[in-house]
Amino acid sequence: MTLIRFFRDYARERFGVRVRKIPVALPFTCPNIDGSKGRGGCAYCYRGARPDHLSPRVSMREQIEEGIRRARERYGRELKFFIYFQSYTNTYGDIAYLRELYEEALSFEGVVGLDVGTRPDCVPQEVIELLASYTAKGVEVWLELGLQSANYETLKRINRGHGISEFVDAVLRAKEVGLKICAHTIVGLPGEGEEDFLETARLLSVLKVDGVKIHPIYVMRNTQLAKMYTRGEFAPLTLGRYVKYAADMLEVLPQDCVVHRLTAEAKKPALLAPDYCTYERKLEVIAAIEEELKRRGKRQGAGEGTIRNLKELVQEPGGA
Ligand code: SF4
Repeated sequence: MTLIRFFRDYARERFGVRVRKIPVALPFTCPNIDGSKGRGGCAYCYRGARPDHLSPRVSMREQIEEGIRRARERYGRELKFFIYFQSYTNTYGDIAYLRELYEEALSFEGVVGLDVGTRPDCVPQEVIELLASYTAKGVEVWLELGLQSANYETLKRINRGHGISEFVDAVLRAKEVGLKICAHTIVGLPGEGEEDFLETARLLSVLKVDGVKIHPIYVMRNTQLAKMYTRGEFAPLTLGRYVKYAADMLEVLPQDCVVHRLTAEAKKPALLAPDYCTYERKLEVIAAIEEELKRRGKRQGAGEGTIRNLKELVQEPGGA
């Protein structure tokens, strides 16, 4: 029995072979950086989460060719691919430009889906409909929406530049046309505690998101968070605390919610803390979370569930 519904297992069942995500970094920016929504970006933002090995100066075609070549070298030719639009805000552009990019990505042999990372306040209806036009042709499209926390005060504290309502709105509109939603969450944001992490998982459970990314907060140099960290105003979670909270969240999330990520990886010296957020320790962190569930005799979706809580809430006398 698998305790966690990982993306790799979901995708193998769905497509019958191993599926790899091919990340691309394109010359996008973000409305929370360029001034249209905010300036300075999220407190933890470091290069819009661009992987070290990718450069937006290299054409998307070359990035995909190289990604596919490397994946085949490692895993053999029996592979399918998702093109993963990873860094910055990949729906923030002219619709004709977005169409050109998405369709070029879909033109590669073996590509069965798109995975588009963005902000919940940056998915106008025309983008949702464009993405839905691909699902109508049998392509699987995941819309990756950054929520990070279901606590509005936290979102203000970290300068997200959007609230919870934009996230709910984007989820409902995207689900209505058959896009799959993967929600990003961060555990251990400044000022947050156990109840916040659980509440975030409860919101995602109620909204029936199709997938989730959970990772611990990590501090990168040249960020607002780095300043707080060096001034002693903030400390990331220890590995033990992160493992506990990630397991708690998994218990609350439904069994069929696909887990796309359970930790974060960065490289020193740009990574200031914690030291378990490295490529080398990725598997150790995931194994520790699985071990924690095993120790509890629990699995993803084994928790109390959210719907029951909501029912209790609405039955409270005088509850509004
Ligand atoms: S939304 Fe993403 S790219 Fe934009 S500032 Fe925040 S972390 Fe950076």
